[in-house]
Amino acid sequence: MPAQTHLFLCLQDNYGVLLHDGATGATAAIDAPEESAVEAALTATGWRLTDILVTHHHADHTGGIAALKARHRCRVVAPHGEATRIPLVDTTVRERDKVAVGGLEGQVYETPGHTLGHIAYWFHPDNLAFVGDTLFSIGCGRVIEGTPGMMWRSLIKLRDLPDETKIYCGHEYPAANIKFARTIEPDNAALAAREAQARQQIANGEPTIPVTIGEEKKANPFLRADLPEVAAAVSMEGKQASQVFAEIRARKNKF
Ligand SMILES: [Zn+2]
Repeated sequence: MPAQTHLFLCLQDNYGVLLHDGATGATAAIDAPEESAVEAALTATGWRLTDILVTHHHADHTGGIAALKARHRCRVVAPHGEATRIPLVDTTVRERDKVAVGGLEGQVYETPGHTLGHIAYWFHPDNLAFVGDTLFSIGCGRVIEGTPGMMWRSLIKLRDLPDETKIYCGHEYPAANIKFARTIEPDNAALAAREAQARQQIANGEPTIPVTIGEEKKANPFLRADLPEVAAAVSMEGKQASQVFAEIRARKNKF
């Protein structure tokens, strides 16, 4: 039975998502930004919370864990490197570890940069990836604890997932991200198409995620720092991709 997902808004601009295995009834919350929003999502779906899969320690991803665990006695899975900064962890995971949600099979990718222990969860048979604050639609997370080179390598890891992989991120900032991306690649046709699509989605009150890796590769400048035309666009012809990425990220920070 294929995985089911339920996406919902919480806090100011976080996205929560539930991952459900219909065969066993298991349900994971990917991060727990806010107890009330996760509870409302559980009520709306009728699903029972069995697991919380944490991507990183920031409060807007972990603030609901204690209350949710107290009520549902669910398992809390968290990155090995940040377990001491996340409440009530049951299981810590590292690169390539397997994580099951009922009968659904996930795999852990370490994606440091935004935080040093940040991880993503890839549910390969269902073509789903939960990437926290590493990759956003037409954007990426701020490099807070790591280095730009570290973040670039993490993004490449996600870029190497199959094109059809659906990406669920911790936030979406489509309008601002697309506006910035157009300053880097004003002539990118795929980006222009995404802008039109996002405008329509926003007008309809729909989320602009999930997106696929294939779509992101064509339009997200942070995944395109190793292309000569992108290096040229920021006057860094011949420089290493990680340096080009660092320049694009620095420009976004000031945008
Ligand atoms: Zn964060």
